[in-house]
Amino acid sequence: MRRVAVVGATGSIGASALDVIARNPGRLAASVLVAGRNVDALVALCATHRPEHAVIADPSLLGALRDGLQANRLSTQAHAGMAAIDALVASDACDTVVAAIVGAAGLDSTLAAARAGKRIALANKESLVLAGALVMEAARESGAAIVPVDSEHNAIFQCLPARDGLAARDTRGLRRIVLTASGGPFRGRSRASLADVTPEQAIAHPRWSMGPKISVDSATLMNKGLEVIEAHHLFGVAPAAIDVLVHPQSLVHSLVEFVDGSTLAQLGLPDMRTALAVGLGWPERLESGVGGLDLVAQGGRLDFEAPDLDAFPCLRLAFEALAAGGAAPAVLNAANEVAVEAFLARRIGFLDIAGVVADSLEALGAQAAVDLPSLLDADRLAREHAIRRVEALA
Ligand code: NAD
Ligand code: MG
Repeated sequence: MRRVAVVGATGSIGASALDVIARNPGRLAASVLVAGRNVDALVALCATHRPEHAVIADPSLLGALRDGLQANRLSTQAHAGMAAIDALVASDACDTVVAAIVGAAGLDSTLAAARAGKRIALANKESLVLAGALVMEAARESGAAIVPVDSEHNAIFQCLPARDGLAARDTRGLRRIVLTASGGPFRGRSRASLADVTPEQAIAHPRWSMGPKISVDSATLMNKGLEVIEAHHLFGVAPAAIDVLVHPQSLVHSLVEFVDGSTLAQLGLPDMRTALAVGLGWPERLESGVGGLDLVAQGGRLDFEAPDLDAFPCLRLAFEALAAGGAAPAVLNAANEVAVEAFLARRIGFLDIAGVVADSLEALGAQAAVDLPSLLDADRLAREHAIRRVEALA
């Protein structure tokens, strides 16, 4: 029986993870549930899934969480604060962690799980963008198995053979990996036509239903840029061997190409429960609730096209940040988080997101940064810089 901590339980990935857990009662149990601020949603999940522990990240909400659990006569223990999250994911309360906080806020708990040797079903890509080398190093040292649940990386994980145990992949003979991208809601549009698009239009993703931040990232293609950096760290593949291909049907989740000319791909319906079932069960296959792929019913065709880096410069910025190394990926990620939040709050326009990120990279991207304190410093400075840029634009 795997005892699972779902960190970011009230979000979109959290819901998919809990659905897979509930479908496998003899194999999986939710032992710890974590949320940011939504106490009511967290209490409702506790009533359904009966975890031993519930944590609310915002310490001022501990009383409300206690009251909610008590009102529902639940024996779940209430905790609050980021330190409580880190302590619980590293404790015997779980052996498996679904890392599904959104943004760099997820780094601490991802690192805590990696240091403690847990199975990590990793959705929180921003922790790898910010500090990928450190997270992977911590996992290697402790023996933590990181199984990516970002659908593209999960596809690559499934296509590559194992090496040295369960989770590490064998990349010998690999020529390149190809990350597929849906292209988002604005695929095919010119840069000029994107100036006035609204948050509602940006988060109306054609194929996937996701949280607001990653939905905007998908619309700008920054999501694919973050995923390029994520892939580099997860699989140890050089940036030049990572390509991006737009595939609007989102049925081919990514491809790997070997030196002999073979290409392997993983296909499936666009439903994150498949990747989560792999992350929770690997090397076993679990029921996920996702049906099979009927390619005829899906329209009978698979289309592919090159990404438009003119209309969607964020993808180029991410490749540049990865090539620059040091603090640049941390700066890219932090500035993007600030810019996306400002766009969602209607303070800046859609095209300003790339502008704020580019400006922050120019100002701060050349710093060297290798250890955690210097990366966190770069993250903080980039947020301050990006906030000033947003104020100037707003
Ligand atoms: P979401 O906004 O729906 O949910 C985010 C969750 O994180 C919520 O439970 C929220 O309470 C929690 N949270 C936010 N800040 C927190 C904090 N400081 N401390 C503790 N908890 C906090 O986001 P999502 O779409 O589920 O995405 C989660 C992560 O998974 C992101 O990194 C995203 O890039 C990645 N991801 C998501 C999808 C998807 O289909 N949604 C696909 C691939 C990868
Ligand atoms: Mg993805």
